[in-house]
This record gives sequence, C-alpha cells and structure tokens, in this order.
Amino acid sequence: MQVLSLESGATNKEHPSPGKLIIFTGPSGVGKGTLMRSLLQRHPELYYSVSVTTRLPRPGEIDGKEYYFISRSKFEQLVQNNEFLEWAEFAGNCYGTPREPVERQIREGKLVVLEIELEGARQIRATFPGTLSIFILPPSFQELEKRIRNRGNDSEQAITRRLARAQEEINAADEFDIRIVNDDFETALKSIEAALFQ
Ligand code: 5GP
Repeated sequence: MQVLSLESGATNKEHPSPGKLIIFTGPSGVGKGTLMRSLLQRHPELYYSVSVTTRLPRPGEIDGKEYYFISRSKFEQLVQNNEFLEWAEFAGNCYGTPREPVERQIREGKLVVLEIELEGARQIRATFPGTLSIFILPPSFQELEKRIRNRGNDSEQAITRRLARAQEEINAADEFDIRIVNDDFETALKSIEAALFQ
C-alpha cells in the first residue's frame, strides 16, 4: 500500500509541500452542506471530495455533484477492491470516500475537504494523523430536531434513526480538534475560515 505523507514540509519547486486533509463532521441537519457550499464558493482552491453512496438521490441532487449514487452490490465491490479511503454505514445506507482522487490532490498540495460521519472521521484520523478535524454542533438538540423535520424529505423511520445517530455524534464532539456551533451562519463560516487559513 502506498504511504501518504500528510505533514506539511518546507516548500520548494521540486518538492511542493504535500496537502492536508480536513474533515467536517456533525449531526444530520446541522447545516454542514450549506456551510460547505459557501466555503467552497469563497475558496475555489479547496478540493471537495464527492462521496459515493447507496442512498437514493433527494429531489434536486445530481449524480456526480452531491454524491455518486450507486447500488449496494457495486459499493461492496468497491470496498473489496480497496477503493475507499474510508467508508461507513449511516441510517441504513453506505457512504464512502473515493481513495484515488483524494490521494492525488494531496500529493499535488491541495487542501482536501471531506464531509463525513463519525465512524469515517475516526478511520481517517487513525490513518492520517495530520488531519484537521472539525465538528459542527447545533445550537441545541431541539433546534436540530426542528431542522431535520422541516427538511421534510425523509420518512419518520429515517428521521428517528438520524436523531438517534445525531445524539451519538454530538456525544463524540470532544474527539475533534475544533468544535463550531452553527447558530449564526456567517459567524460559523468565519470560524471555519479561521481554522483553515490562520
Ligand atoms: P446524507 O444522507 O444526509 O447526505 O448524509 C448522511 C451522513 O453521511 C452525513 O453525516 C454525511 O456527512 C455522511 N457522509 C457523506 N459522505 C460520506 C462518506 O464518504 N463517508 C462517510 N463515512 N460518511 C459520509
């Protein structure tokens, strides 16, 4: 297996400093997606890793943009072929980070952003110690439940599973390098920028 160095070193032309992995984790409904979209718009130099999932697309989601939507058997095949940097099951579906594009971007010196759930974040932290891990918290659990319900496109069963998992994830927030509360959107975005660029 290829060993990937994620420590940033001195930069020179022959050996540009390797990039870095940044992971964003936080409960379903906390607003990670919206924060990510604004962050990427404001910093086009960041590379966002599009994940693979067995979940069905939500209305408006485009294959190859939000996710690569694939079948479970195809997903299992990719796992067998070691094509994921990490993967996990979440609320009945599988999600994984394609290995090759991320490794390539890191070698090219990019900051690579992953938006992944807790188990995947743990796998990445264990494999790549230089990773910056950021956890996005809701202002309160009540507020989170309201946001998940207002999204209105998940079944009651899916909502219940997501709420249970949300509580587990929030309990693990202390494992992360940085915790940011998404109460006021602009403030949260500025805190993320400060963590990434200062
Ligand atoms: P959703 O179905 O709401 O889009 O995503 C459900 C959860 O899966 C979210 O917490 C999201 O961050 C996480 N997720 C998305 N892509 C990946 C991935 O590639 N790996 C892992 N481990 N989690 C992912």
